[in-house]
Amino acid sequence: MSDAGPTTPGLAERYAAVTEGIAEASRAAGRADDPPTLIVVTKFHSAALVRELVQLGVRHVGENRHQDAGPKAAELAGEPLTWHFVGQLQSNKAKAVAQYASAVHSVDRASLVTALAKAQTPLEVFIEVNLTDDPGRGGVAPDAVDALAEAVLTAEHLSLQGVMAVAPLDEEPRAAFARLRGISERLRAIAPAATRISAGMSGDYAEAIAEGATHLRIGTAITGKRPAPL
Ligand SMILES: *Cc1c(COP(=O)(O)O)cnc(C)c1O
Repeated sequence: MSDAGPTTPGLAERYAAVTEGIAEASRAAGRADDPPTLIVVTKFHSAALVRELVQLGVRHVGENRHQDAGPKAAELAGEPLTWHFVGQLQSNKAKAVAQYASAVHSVDRASLVTALAKAQTPLEVFIEVNLTDDPGRGGVAPDAVDALAEAVLTAEHLSLQGVMAVAPLDEEPRAAFARLRGISERLRAIAPAATRISAGMSGDYAEAIAEGATHLRIGTAITGKRPAPL
């Protein structure tokens, strides 16, 4: 099914380097038997590049804009891929995203929970937590996580997986991820099954692994520089 075609320079080497880096960080954290799941964030890249990733062994991909992800997922429907939606999501696109995505990592408000549940399809949900002091950044404040979790827990079709965050730019990532781990532990007091932590990008995945990340979202370290948005 996959036509190898011209291959992206360096892609296989970068993928190998990152998977080795993940293995090393997992060993260092005493997690060699329980390594995180790698989600390769392919936003702005072509379906052809995603096909190359499948041939390298990638099974989880992440996208952040429905208008790009929808057509890509349709074109790659025959590939053995799980699609993760990791970006800001407007409620009016929730139903469409739920048609191809298995998981939404960026749930940040009750109205989005309602919109996702209306799609009436099984969907894994992560609550995005804002680890900065700037309310303009994505995610809910740490003290609003529990209330949003209750909304997910009572919604049909949605299964609460855990928390997601992006490390702030002005803080050591490890310290920020340690806070996220604490928030995750608190969440588990009301949602024992919500054990997952989606954290760690190209520049900070080792720190995220050290603080218990179960799902890494890595883009440029594997794909190379992103092309300009269409
Ligand atoms: C783009 C993106 C990533 C990947 O970022 P890189 O720095 O390219 O690894 C991870 N998470 C989210 C939410 C993103 O939008």
